[in-house]
Amino acid sequence: MRPPLLLVPGPVPLHPSVQGELAKPAMPHYGKAWVKHYGEVLGLLRYAWAAPQARVFPVLGPGHAGIESLGHTFLRRGDRAIVLDNGFFGDRLREVLLAHHLQVDVVQSPWGEGPDVPGLRTALKRPARFVVFVHNETSTGVTNPLQEIVETAHEGGAFVLVDAVSSLAGLPLPFGDLGIDAAFSASQKCLAAPAGIAPVAVAPSLWESTDAKTVDGWYFSLFTWDRYEREWGAWHPTPTTVSSNVFYAFRRALQLIKEEGLEARIRRHAAMAARLREGLATLGFRPVAPGALLSDTVTCVMTPPGTDAGDLVRRLRLEHNIYVSGGLGPLRGRSVRIGTMGTQADPAVIDAFLEAVRSLV
Ligand code: PLP
Repeated sequence: MRPPLLLVPGPVPLHPSVQGELAKPAMPHYGKAWVKHYGEVLGLLRYAWAAPQARVFPVLGPGHAGIESLGHTFLRRGDRAIVLDNGFFGDRLREVLLAHHLQVDVVQSPWGEGPDVPGLRTALKRPARFVVFVHNETSTGVTNPLQEIVETAHEGGAFVLVDAVSSLAGLPLPFGDLGIDAAFSASQKCLAAPAGIAPVAVAPSLWESTDAKTVDGWYFSLFTWDRYEREWGAWHPTPTTVSSNVFYAFRRALQLIKEEGLEARIRRHAAMAARLREGLATLGFRPVAPGALLSDTVTCVMTPPGTDAGDLVRRLRLEHNIYVSGGLGPLRGRSVRIGTMGTQADPAVIDAFLEAVRSLV
């Protein structure tokens, strides 16, 4: 039996040098060497976000720790937010914002389709503080048009807050050039690091327009992170204990991104997703997303007539030790989701997967 081949849309297999960091002895999360390491992580994060001016924070926790920290720091009870929702993770953003007691208006479009940008324009006729949306909808394999949404939101006078969980370092995401106000991601996707860190980026204009005294909570307040960086930065730059192994592995994964080059990495993701899509098309699979919005990090396909999606996922696992995900919500039972993020975006991996699928359909 081959070792497991993880092609779920995150987590992804770790590069051996990233994996190696997890096996090293634990180190303290303070002291001179740690401070240097932490500073390097912040610099590499600004590189990954293409945001030299942004405030960046490696908040400990899953991707949701990213939206929670942005919620605590910048969203206020009663603020009006417009959520563009075209899938499972758009729904989730709505749920999180409601839990922060925002006045949430949803501009809905069907799963598998692009966002309703004209609907957003109409919704922006009434003032809103934030437009919130998912860059790459992992549930459907739709990449939402980042630039168009950011420009529309800004024309309407709102800040934009972007879920970049399955796009950072895999899809073009020029945070600085587009003038994105805030975004969050997760370490276990295109960054190809262990789960447990939510990188958050905030533009200076949003940071400066926020009064730290109005923030609720402590750990998830990015002003707390900022204060520790300023006041304890020479010794202990984070507000709490962090896992040194996870951080060292995260740094190694970010170094690999810099070594490859962000643009080359994004080109690799595009080429590998195209290879996968072509192979699946010859086997009778049909993408859920429209052509112009096909994701290069998550491929979501309808199975050919006569192939049950759940059965295919199960047989890939049991007979080939290959892990992919089934569809969610209305696509459950009819579609399969395959991640091609970070280490998964590799020709040998994709060809092995296609060969296994060929033997089952
Ligand atoms: N947003 C998107 C687009 C995702 O794909 C995911 C996870 O798959 C999340 C948010 C949630 O991330 P986490 O489970 O790390 O909190």
